[in-house]
Amino acid sequence: MQEICELCGSDALESVYTPERSARGISVHICGRCGLVQSLPRADRAPRAAPAVSSGADWGNVRYGKGFRSKIAVDAVLRHCDPQAALSLLDVGSNRGSFAHALLGAAPQAHITAIEPDERVAQSCAGLQRIELHVARIEDTPLETSRFDVVHSSHTVEHLAHPAHVLDDHRRTLKSGGVLVLDAPNIAILGADDIVEEWFIDKHLYHFSERTLSRLVAAAGFSIVERPDRDDAANLFLVARKTGAAGEPAGADPQEVEKAYDLISSYVATRAHNLAALTAVAAELHALAPKGVAIWGAGRIFDSLVVHGRFDARALRLLIDKHLKPHVGERHGCALAAPEELVRAKPGVIVVMSRGFADEIAAEARKFAPAAEILLYTDLLSRARTHLAA
Ligand SMILES: [Zn+2]
Repeated sequence: MQEICELCGSDALESVYTPERSARGISVHICGRCGLVQSLPRADRAPRAAPAVSSGADWGNVRYGKGFRSKIAVDAVLRHCDPQAALSLLDVGSNRGSFAHALLGAAPQAHITAIEPDERVAQSCAGLQRIELHVARIEDTPLETSRFDVVHSSHTVEHLAHPAHVLDDHRRTLKSGGVLVLDAPNIAILGADDIVEEWFIDKHLYHFSERTLSRLVAAAGFSIVERPDRDDAANLFLVARKTGAAGEPAGADPQEVEKAYDLISSYVATRAHNLAALTAVAAELHALAPKGVAIWGAGRIFDSLVVHGRFDARALRLLIDKHLKPHVGERHGCALAAPEELVRAKPGVIVVMSRGFADEIAAEARKFAPAAEILLYTDLLSRARTHLAA
């Protein structure tokens, strides 16, 4: 069957990129009419795999990142709604319930209908008061028309086979003037100069820009009242209000098409360069091993260092990751440790392997090991790139 673009309906979908280690044979396409980047095939409902902390496209099923986004969403609800009112909210993809916990704490009369297909994570909302939990996919959950004041959807829309249909249904379930609080990954991150992990993971079927996500939301009959923050290259967070009627289907956007092509070709070039530089980063860390090296962050960047830089994890004194530790016991033959273990291990060097949380991690590392030298992954990579270019 010929797939058509989810945003503009065109069949001009051109394959531009094949992700590394895709378990689903994914190919990334650009719509030649509107510029929406989308992964094909869209076959969803794949059987759930075991947790895979891979830097390739097969990464997934270790879900803990969404909790970091709860505060910004709760704050948005409080800006647009009366926290003392008996608000009715739909929380799509509730995950471990961090939004639900925070919102119910801030709005004492609110009631949440929580939808989460993964029973392993849904159970963390099960005991909460004022929550009705559905362990199901949003597409399979019948909901009343005009029932909710707020629909909150965080890092879910990019996983859906047909996000336009689901946004349309969110509009139907909202009361007149109801608010949509939407959060999704931002394709602008592909412009980062330190990316090493495969960004086009199998679980993401759509890769939105500010422009394509805003147009999809508008086409579903919303008017955007808070646009995404231009300084946040990682997330697209927006607030929209239900309008009277469904919007117009999206038309052509040649500028967005050109931007999408440029972004993906720059990603391919930058990432190839960075993967080559990882070998030099690994060599530098091996040379530091006699001082005792700890790495904080055992996720996708660390996996790239081992897989592409051929770093030997046995050279480490400590591998710390407090978020992954409960889900996976070890990475590449190295047991995961809690930050407190830094006190006993006394490493001479701590390497922070994180992009978004580097400052926070460095500050925490200093508390446990004040004498250790702290190196940031971004600095190590940028040094290695300079050497490579010389
Ligand atoms: Zn299109």
